[in-house]
Amino acid sequence: MSRVYNFSAGPAVLPEEVLKEAAAEMLDYNGTGMSVMEMSHRSKAFEEIIQTAEQDIRDLLKIPDNYKVLFLQGGAHQQFAAVPLNLFKNRVGDYIITGQWAKKAWKEAKLYGTANAIASSEDKTFSYIPDCSDLPVDENADYVYICENNTIYGTKFHTLPNTKGKTLVSDVSSCFLSEPMDVSKYGVIYGGVQKNIGPAGVVIVIIREDLIREDVLPETPTIMRYDVQAKAGSLYNTPPCYGIYICGKVFKWLKKQGGLEAMKERNERKAKILYDYLDESKLFHGTVRKEDRSIMNVPFVTGDKELDTLFVKEAEAAGFVNLKGHRTVGGMRASIYNAMPEEGVVKLVEFMKKFEAEHADA
Ligand SMILES: *Cc1c(COP(=O)(O)O)cnc(C)c1O
Repeated sequence: MSRVYNFSAGPAVLPEEVLKEAAAEMLDYNGTGMSVMEMSHRSKAFEEIIQTAEQDIRDLLKIPDNYKVLFLQGGAHQQFAAVPLNLFKNRVGDYIITGQWAKKAWKEAKLYGTANAIASSEDKTFSYIPDCSDLPVDENADYVYICENNTIYGTKFHTLPNTKGKTLVSDVSSCFLSEPMDVSKYGVIYGGVQKNIGPAGVVIVIIREDLIREDVLPETPTIMRYDVQAKAGSLYNTPPCYGIYICGKVFKWLKKQGGLEAMKERNERKAKILYDYLDESKLFHGTVRKEDRSIMNVPFVTGDKELDTLFVKEAEAAGFVNLKGHRTVGGMRASIYNAMPEEGVVKLVEFMKKFEAEHADA
């Protein structure tokens, strides 16, 4: 067996330790004589799995007691709809458009009310984060919405927007648990786990209790109601049991690595190795304004499409896979999530240097 360095944007690399543990427990989880895939979501064993997972993510993010944590299905896309359905009172939401995911969320909200685009970086292919210090926030806005780390474009909000007192909603899918967060600054934080936490199929929603209401928009499907899911402890219907179990293992792994402070340090160090090289390279360069760079997703180009294609092909043959950039940016993108070892980034840079030397006069 040989494992590659997987730079996929998602579903993405998971800690090898976690995969090995899951493999060892595949046929008999903890003396139950069955796999977690085979057990009732109302069994004692699963109850312990989901409760331990919740406690561990609470510890990692220091989630205040007045926030609920939900483990749901439907991915981030379901939350694009669930957010306006549950939070709209005035049916007004303000959106900051920093990429395709924010744009999709904005379009979804328009199905249920007025969704204002109060800032955008689309003029430069979303290669920066717009100034959000003095936004034209609608006085009737039920919330201000951001996509905190833009997976496709490689930008990150390093400063949260000034929401002028409005509730902040954030899609953190691709930076979830990559560094500490001050949860109290948000009304709702949510993320699909398949980028930085676990397998596809789980979305985690962290929501302040006073935002959980029974008088949601009448067209809200019951399954998408935060009040219903919160009351049922995420067990209103069958949750994505196996995915939650793997997330729980990743939370334990993160604690063992030293928690989110340690992960931040490690992720910054990894990103710096790649960005430092991109800044000095004569062949490769980053596509994002420096102060807005993500430490999770790093897009880069050579400026020559054929050379980009050749690089992706040769990299793959050398064991560095899924480096092809998103079709709207072109070039390459290295996603270097929590589970990507530093060694993977070091070796990728070595490979890029070799490629650069071979194509010096391209
Ligand atoms: C991948 C991604 C999504 C889409 O997630 P799904 O689970 O496929 O709905 C949304 N937002 C961000 C930031 C993402 O990275």
